Amino acid sequence: MAQRPYIVGNWKMNGTRAMLSEARAVDRAAQRHMKVEVALAPPYTLIHAVHREVEQIWVGAQDCSPNPDGAHTGDISVPMIADAGAKFVILGHSERRQGYGETNELVREKADAALEGGLRVIICCGETLETREAGKAEAFVAEQLKASLPKLEDAGEKVTVAYEPIWAIGTGKTATVDDIAAMHSMIRTLLIETYGEEQGAEVRVLYGGSVKPENAGEILGTPEVGGALVGGASLSAETFMNIALAAGDTVEG
Ligand code: PEP
Repeated sequence: MAQRPYIVGNWKMNGTRAMLSEARAVDRAAQRHMKVEVALAPPYTLIHAVHREVEQIWVGAQDCSPNPDGAHTGDISVPMIADAGAKFVILGHSERRQGYGETNELVREKADAALEGGLRVIICCGETLETREAGKAEAFVAEQLKASLPKLEDAGEKVTVAYEPIWAIGTGKTATVDDIAAMHSMIRTLLIETYGEEQGAEVRVLYGGSVKPENAGEILGTPEVGGALVGGASLSAETFMNIALAAGDTVEG
């Protein structure tokens, strides 16, 4: 059975308890639109509060430590975020890869720790504008994913990939539908090579980068696009759920 589109909001470093009303509004709307699976990744400080406020949507974290505990000042472990109510974690976001020098190997270590701790993972990948203009985007993303993806038997259920061209994040620019289709098709082939025919076909591949209600229908209707990772537009429940509605419209029935 085809999976429901997966629409994930990444609040990044935004939000205090005043934002809980937005999370509640997203949850209420998600209960009316069951054709779509909806998730929010608030900052660590709000995971528990959002988890307590919602019934329908998934709540997750934006990162985690590869270590379970110990002398790692400032870090947050998988057991901690799971205890707060997180069910998934976003890993390898370009803002962490670029801002904190996170390598593919570290992303993979974090993914192993998250899966071990019972969380699902969203593994982000994506090229810079320079790499795209050099015609090397697909080769770059393939290498990035090969080294970042965790190895496991039941990846279909536990692993999601988010393709986010770095030049499209927060810039208002989006990749063309043809470029998105080509990249997602390459990623699908790689997932099948990595996880086998059945599991590799089930891993959802999200698109991220300036997704808005206005462009969501076209992007989400592209072959192999299983949903969206949404940054800026997820900070308003109304805008975010309009993206989810557009995703629902791409589903038959
Ligand atoms: C993101 O940060 O994952 C993202 C896609 O951001 P935006 O939607 O703001 O481009």
